[in-house]
Amino acid sequence: MPEGDSVFQAARRLHAALSGHELTIADLRWPSLATADLVGDTTIEVVAAGKHLLHRLTSGRTLHSHLKMEGRWRVGPNDGRQVRSPDVRAVLATDSYVAVGTRLGMLDLVATRDEHTLVGHLGPDVLGPDWDAERAVANLAALPGVPIGAALLDQRNLAGLGTVYVAETLFLQRLSPWTLIGDVSPVRLAGTVARAHTLLEANKDTYARTITGSRVEGQQDYVHGRSGLPCRRCGTTIEVAPLDHTSRVVFYCRTCQEGPFPALRPQRPLGSTPRGPATRRDYRTRG
Ligand SMILES: [Zn+2]
Repeated sequence: MPEGDSVFQAARRLHAALSGHELTIADLRWPSLATADLVGDTTIEVVAAGKHLLHRLTSGRTLHSHLKMEGRWRVGPNDGRQVRSPDVRAVLATDSYVAVGTRLGMLDLVATRDEHTLVGHLGPDVLGPDWDAERAVANLAALPGVPIGAALLDQRNLAGLGTVYVAETLFLQRLSPWTLIGDVSPVRLAGTVARAHTLLEANKDTYARTITGSRVEGQQDYVHGRSGLPCRRCGTTIEVAPLDHTSRVVFYCRTCQEGPFPALRPQRPLGSTPRGPATRRDYRTRG
């Protein structure tokens, strides 16, 4: 699932290409929008709200999209070629540029004044101009019985974190994703929110996201995507487990992070041993 930084960048690309110009093509391949006609309308701006994209038009309408799991907006020069892929959900073009939305998870058209019906439930936007850390902390603190990993992922508390940032933030804060918020001190909770904000801010201008500071492929993350590999800090094998009842998973180091963890189970994805410091040979075998 795209993280807030990716959505922020998508909004910026769309805004740079489309704002201030009239749409010459607006092909919305979405059942509920079959009769919507945006041709001739002009883009005022495209902004991100958490992981939602709001494309505001001078007619007072907003085209709303969400990338969900695999969605993407690609922007390029308008070379007049037809866009034929079955994955395409939207094509928006001006005389100069074309934006193609593929595999979008949501596409709606609403009156701009009604945008709140789409994004009004969101907590403070981590990368938004009105980021409000105190409110995000207060939203979390109001859920003492909820595990912190699930609460950070819940866009109603704060908007913009996906599974990568949740895993990496909690590793850096040395907290298990299953720690109940009521068991986290106020200072630590505020520190966790601040850390998430810092990480997202640091990556909002780069396509090569890095948490560790390394830009080398495979070395950008501490735990995310590293199940079966040794922890960069302590050598314990990184594990992955479902975060909640959904299909979302979280990666973690049960030595570096404090709190409750799921029962040990074999970590099969990379053919590793279930637990214990990985040997140098393990590391090499898995490249
Ligand atoms: Zn560790």
